[in-house]
Amino acid sequence: MSRVGSAAVVERVEGRLRRGLDATAKADVVRKLVARSTLGATSEFFPKGGPCLVWQGPVGTEGRGMVCVVNQMMNVARAAWLSQVGELPTDEKGRPYDVHLLCRNKLCTNVAHFEAIPHAESIRRENAMLTHCPNNHERTPENLVLVKASGGRTAMTCRICRKASWNRYRDKKLAERATEVAA
Ligand SMILES: [Zn+2]
Ligand SMILES: [Zn+2]
Repeated sequence: MSRVGSAAVVERVEGRLRRGLDATAKADVVRKLVARSTLGATSEFFPKGGPCLVWQGPVGTEGRGMVCVVNQMMNVARAAWLSQVGELPTDEKGRPYDVHLLCRNKLCTNVAHFEAIPHAESIRRENAMLTHCPNNHERTPENLVLVKASGGRTAMTCRICRKASWNRYRDKKLAERATEVAA
């Protein structure tokens, strides 16, 4: 195979693997995912899910982690699902569901952070992400503010969320001072 993560290869292998992995293949995939993932941070998009397990192996097109499954490359989220949850349901056209990343971390291998949803629903959610912030505030020109991000970049962020985060910080500081005075 010439290129890691070639969409054509993934399509073909996922079509075949939709019928499921046998026990040996499942064990092999789980072993690879565990061996090559490290404990990461908890995603702000899915805080109740706890930390991501971050794939340290090959990365394919679109920034997705890729793992070898039965001699073919597959994205790590789908590989984790097929090996630890089971077969993916199919929609009315017979297409397997997408593995949706609740933590939005394309290198995550923590199956607790994934949800299987129909392809159409996954497209709808991706579009909603473009028009709304993670807390569902609409992204309008008035509600977007430019901030300094890591690496000297600038990023757009939600004004309502940023204000809420400032208020939380202020309340925390006020509470700390109150405790100091009381002590
Ligand atoms: Zn995750
Ligand atoms: Zn917001």
